[in-house]
Amino acid sequence: MGLMAGKTALIFGVANRNSIAWGIAQRLQEEGARIGISYASAALLKRVQPLAESIGCDFIEPCDVTDDRQIEAVFQKAQERFGTIDTLVHSLAYAPREDLAGRMVDVSRDGFQQTLAISAYSLIALTRAALPLMPAGGSIISMTYYAAEKVIPRYNAMAIAKASLELITKYLAADLGSQQIRVNAISAGAIKTLAAAGIPGFRDMLRFTQQAVPLRSLVHQREVGDAALFLASDLSRQVTGEILHVDAGYHVLGSTITDEMMAQLKS
Ligand code: NAD
Repeated sequence: MGLMAGKTALIFGVANRNSIAWGIAQRLQEEGARIGISYASAALLKRVQPLAESIGCDFIEPCDVTDDRQIEAVFQKAQERFGTIDTLVHSLAYAPREDLAGRMVDVSRDGFQQTLAISAYSLIALTRAALPLMPAGGSIISMTYYAAEKVIPRYNAMAIAKASLELITKYLAADLGSQQIRVNAISAGAIKTLAAAGIPGFRDMLRFTQQAVPLRSLVHQREVGDAALFLASDLSRQVTGEILHVDAGYHVLGSTITDEMMAQLKS
């Protein structure tokens, strides 16, 4: 019996096979979960559909999270199909390219609002819509990044959104704990995905990260999937309001200068 046997997970944020949401979908399905997938827009269907079908998922519904009617529609369909769900995965974010560059002081009002609405407020909106489908409790998981805690150059608007998302996670955990709904976030290390491609200098950042992190390795989507499996399953039944770092230890570093780098500097 898998850890997710008998459970249903509704997953938002699959765009392609590199998506973290896809890594999570695969791991939950391998452990016995029934999966429903929601994707942002029609243009993505040709990529999402074959992925979904490869794990036996035939609930593939579009939803732009800025539109309450689309949110209502996807949860209505999920209720008709599944009755109830056990896990909600929020693995989505967006910031205009120009607000992921330069300096914080140049972040535009519109870019700020759009980034916060899509990347942070949507967790509240999706959670509210999921509540009627979780009468016996459940697990809600979102994806965050270390830029919420410390300055990572160029993350700007997205850093604000992630800080907001982490605080929303804690407030939702406090609000919904009495309904046995747990709310946690995974703070993943840098992974090459479509969203990450929008961050200038991301390739160099990956190379540097691999050399600097305690475990000297890059994080893979499946490894985030493993952590999501823990948070989705009963193994984490007493865990809520947690920001779980799956970042090869990056978040413990006060300095990213390694012994190897020091030796190189001296030679
Ligand atoms: P991705 O591009 O595969 O996923 C981002 C998803 O957001 C896409 O599926 C996209 O369609 C969706 N999205 C954007 N706007 C939307 C909207 N209006 N409505 C509905 N969906 C919308 O990239 P990813 O890296 O897998 O990102 C998933 C999550 O992981 C994001 O929250 C991201 O910030 C977070 N994260 C990523 C990294 C990384 O390095 N890749 C690190 C830490 C956290």
